[in-house]
Order: sequence, then structure tokens, then C-alpha cells
Amino acid sequence: MILASVEAIAELFGSVGAQDYLGEPVTLAAHLLQTGALAEAAGASPSLIAAALLHDVGHLPGVGARTGRELMAGTDNHHAAQGAAWLSRLFRPPVTEPVRLHVAAKRYLCATEASYFARLSPASAYTLSVQGGPMSEAEARAFERLPFAAGAVAVRRWDDQAKNPEAALPDFAHFRPLLEKDLLRR
Ligand code: FE
Repeated sequence: MILASVEAIAELFGSVGAQDYLGEPVTLAAHLLQTGALAEAAGASPSLIAAALLHDVGHLPGVGARTGRELMAGTDNHHAAQGAAWLSRLFRPPVTEPVRLHVAAKRYLCATEASYFARLSPASAYTLSVQGGPMSEAEARAFERLPFAAGAVAVRRWDDQAKNPEAALPDFAHFRPLLEKDLLRR
């Protein structure tokens, strides 16, 4: 059962829809592996490495209802919530909450860090408007009080860096033991 769950994630990574990623120079699978690798290199906890690796599962076919292309076309974006809901069958909040909040973390950083917006990729700057734009002062204070806000911000920063087509990548198998350890036991 546990191995079957991780196998389902492995299959998603290898699936056709993992091949394109919202106008970025890397595939979605490469982007996720790179985000996970950055979290690991930063010495993040296993749960946060899992969150980094899985933060965009809501873009994978069969998980989220909307594709990346629909998002780029200006359709409302729910991939963070859809990804977290899908993952909640397998993982606890230390994994699912940073995933659910990673788009909110972008809106938070745009509101609170002057240089952050300028560093976003063109595709990510574009989708910000679809996602609600920078947070208001009140929204930012409310966000900071959420239990997994810091983890979500950390995932967001690795996410933003993980668009380098030249990066050497671990394969999905590298992360399997970590995911299997963090899975919900039923
Ligand atoms: Fe991402």
C-alpha cells in the first residue's frame, strides 16, 4: 500500500504531462526534482524536502483539474490547493501545508520584499496577477501567523531558483526512501 502510493507519484513524474512547465526552460518533472534537491542541499527537514519535491503536483495530469496552459491563458489558479488535497491522502500537514501555501508565499514575498518581484521569471510574474497579486498588509500579517508559513516561504524560494536547465538533477528514485518514511501509516 505504502509502496503503491509512492509508485503512483513516480508514475506521475514520468507521465507525459510532466514534460511541459508553464513557459519555463525546464520540464515540470525537472523543476520538481531541482526544487527537492535545493531543499536537500539547504539541510531542510525530510518533510520540507518532500514538500519541495511535490509542490507542483497540482499541475500533473489527474491531480489538478487545470493544466499549466490554462493557467497561462489566464484561468484562475488552484494548483496549490488541488495538489495539497491530493497529497493529504498520503502525507501529514508538514508536507501538505507548505504545498498548499506556496502560491500564497509568492504573494506574501511580493508584498514584503522589495526586490522579490524583480527576481521572478517572466512566466511567474505573469501568473501573479492570475493568483491575486501581492498580498495586502492585513493578508501578509495573517499569512505570517499560519503554522507552516515559514516552510511555505522556504519552498517558494527553492521553487523560484529551480528553473535552471543546466542543473545536474537527482532522479526520482533518489527521493523514494525519504517519501516512504514520511508517508502516512494506515
Ligand atoms: Fe513550482
